[in-house]
Amino acid sequence: MHLHPTIINIAYLIASVLFIVGLKGLSHPKTAVRGNFLGGLGMLIAMVVTLLDRNVVDFKWIILGLAIGTLIGVIMAVKIEMTAMPQLVALFNGFGGIASVLVAGAALYETQEQLPPGAVGEAVAKVTAALGTTAPGPSMQLLVATVASGIIGAVTFTGSLIAFAKLQEIKAIDKIKKFPGQSVFNVLLFAGSAVVGAYVCVDPSQVQMYWVIAALGGILGIFLTTPIGGADMPVVIALLNSYSGIAASATGFVLDNNVLIIAGSLVGASGIILTSIMCKAMNRSLWAVLFGTMDTSSGPSADDVYAGKIKATSAEELAMMLEMAQRVVIVPGYGLAVAQAQHAVRDLTNLLTDRGITVEFGIHPVAGRMPGHMNVLLAEADISYEALKEMDEINPTFEQVDVVIVIGANDVVNPVARTDPKSPIAGMPILDVDKARTVIIVKRSLSPGFAGIPNPLFAADNALMFFGDAKKALIDLNAAIKAG
Ligand code: NDP
Repeated sequence: MHLHPTIINIAYLIASVLFIVGLKGLSHPKTAVRGNFLGGLGMLIAMVVTLLDRNVVDFKWIILGLAIGTLIGVIMAVKIEMTAMPQLVALFNGFGGIASVLVAGAALYETQEQLPPGAVGEAVAKVTAALGTTAPGPSMQLLVATVASGIIGAVTFTGSLIAFAKLQEIKAIDKIKKFPGQSVFNVLLFAGSAVVGAYVCVDPSQVQMYWVIAALGGILGIFLTTPIGGADMPVVIALLNSYSGIAASATGFVLDNNVLIIAGSLVGASGIILTSIMCKAMNRSLWAVLFGTMDTSSGPSADDVYAGKIKATSAEELAMMLEMAQRVVIVPGYGLAVAQAQHAVRDLTNLLTDRGITVEFGIHPVAGRMPGHMNVLLAEADISYEALKEMDEINPTFEQVDVVIVIGANDVVNPVARTDPKSPIAGMPILDVDKARTVIIVKRSLSPGFAGIPNPLFAADNALMFFGDAKKALIDLNAAIKAG
């Protein structure tokens, strides 16, 4: 059965509307499940309709690809740890990029059948293509879009593999050192791929040149990503996510497929928005993330900040303190995710609320290593979304909080962001936990966080350190509260 193009386009339109409504739904926890469902439904419609397109000549390879892809996807999704989610996203972006490269390349090869044969035919093709007329051969739209897919898709593919390797802490990647003039080299690589791309547009019979474009793009992706620090990778991943969308959208133009153009544009736009949110929350420009380095060498040393000023506490002492509290705020950070302490936090929350204590969570936009990292983690442990308060909402209220429990968070509560304009995190909005009556910090040592700088909060008069792995510390604390 083959569907009429009008029916296909109407179905694509419905699918696109479902994507947009689905995305809107994802912006709030209450509507997120429905949003996810609607987006999935849109994708199902788009896939079914595409499979009924008259362009499909053989289902054998499609079914085989679907089966292998589904199997790999299911295994990866089930096996992956929550803390490894950023690298999984990186890998998926990379697959999206390479898919665009291959599909656009295949479409270019297919156009070769439309080219008139022989030397005369080639000459005609060259002239008409140069003039952008509709004589035999692929249209200029198809050619430009193919070149764009090739370059952007290849950058996305190799860049994402590097991002994956960095987050996976594969040591070999760090051996690729930045060399003098690397930025100029990158500009030349881009210019080179654009020049070869222009050549293919003028002479589409030079189809093998497409792989040169893709190779140059691939090398560019490697050299753009290797100098960026592992800790900045989440921002890079959001950016690569956007690139994968743009590459898919370009492929949509190659195939003249409206739903791919729209879905790719949605991914492209949302990736850019996410990148900008992350940069803003870290008070760093995208330029500084991509091309700058963090100078952590200046500023006071850990000894200057901590010597003789650190007070440690125990589970029993903390349990007694909490018994007298009326309002408690928990601030989760990266360490909570590493320790997988979300269920222990849920148990603590239940114990405290059972005793009539108000418990809220202060969520910083870049706590953890991905936007929304903490929200997902706490939701996994069935912690009520109503208890999660965003930074702007909770900050003005810290003076009325009896006890703040900071769990595995560091930079997002570091007051130097407010007080020291020379600090690497200067100007980064932080959770003002130092304004609460008592602050308990749960972490294993005085080691710094992602920014690599000491945190004077740990030495503050109203602060107590509860040293230990977050999960173990919370299990001990819960036991002490129950025993009390
Ligand atoms: P940090 O990276 O500042 O600090 C995490 C702390 O967790 C460390 O100091 C570490 O101390 C502690 N920790 C590690 N493992 C454990 C464990 N098992 N048990 C208890 N504690 C543990 O995390 P934050 O969440 O405060 O800040 C996030 C940082 O990441 C920010 O600087 C942000 O800019 C950056 N970032 C975030 C992105 C995002 O989208 N969320 C994107 C890019 C960067 P110790 O070793 O002593 O235990």
